[in-house]
Amino acid sequence: MPQPKDKTKIQEWKNKISEKLKKYEKTKEHKKNISKSHLGKKTTQETIRKLKKSCNGINLAEKNGNWKGDKVKLRGLHRWIESRKFKPKLCEKCKRRKPRELSNTSGNYLRDINDFEWLCSKCHFIKDGKIEKLKLIAGKHLIGKKYSDIHRENISKSLKGIKFTKKHKKNISKSQKKKYKNGYINPMKNKKRNDLSEYNKRRKGKTFEEIYGFDKAQEIKNKLSNALQLSENLKEKITS
Ligand SMILES: [Zn+2]
Repeated sequence: MPQPKDKTKIQEWKNKISEKLKKYEKTKEHKKNISKSHLGKKTTQETIRKLKKSCNGINLAEKNGNWKGDKVKLRGLHRWIESRKFKPKLCEKCKRRKPRELSNTSGNYLRDINDFEWLCSKCHFIKDGKIEKLKLIAGKHLIGKKYSDIHRENISKSLKGIKFTKKHKKNISKSQKKKYKNGYINPMKNKKRNDLSEYNKRRKGKTFEEIYGFDKAQEIKNKLSNALQLSENLKEKITS
């Protein structure tokens, strides 16, 4: 049956075809062939949009066979709220990061949009008290312990040659300010430089070669002598 050129007759033509096809039942072979013909083909965005439009509201709420009313389980409830509650561009608590999770406010998990809020992962984490728990678990074995000298040395070794970016430096200063606000006192406050820690005492009186090894020591010495020369040159310039 050829497709009619007149557009108004197309629907009539489609109906005729579908009526004719109703007489036939699809055999297994037929189904296989269909699936074969579809292999490797991608549905375009437009057809997806059309499909979605045609399905809109078909399975919503009470019409859906899986409807469980108020007995719905948590994941289902989350999905139900997700599809209905307007998702803002920013987290409802901090208003800084993108919201990623729905958080229940009353603790009763009501089937009510107003009982939930859109939060970023961090705010959700804090709200559930997970961070405090994690800190307790992670820091338990560290309470009352101090880093050994070897550990400190290893840390400083691993940090050698790494340069901090401007952003990183800003973050560090931010965190330091926070630390001091919360009552942290610098252990070197009101102390003279001569009150050396044990780690520094071990280095005292040793040559560069003994501490860093020959190659590294030479490099440091070169840098130092260069710096000294520069400062002397500057002095000469200023005085002359
Ligand atoms: Zn947030």
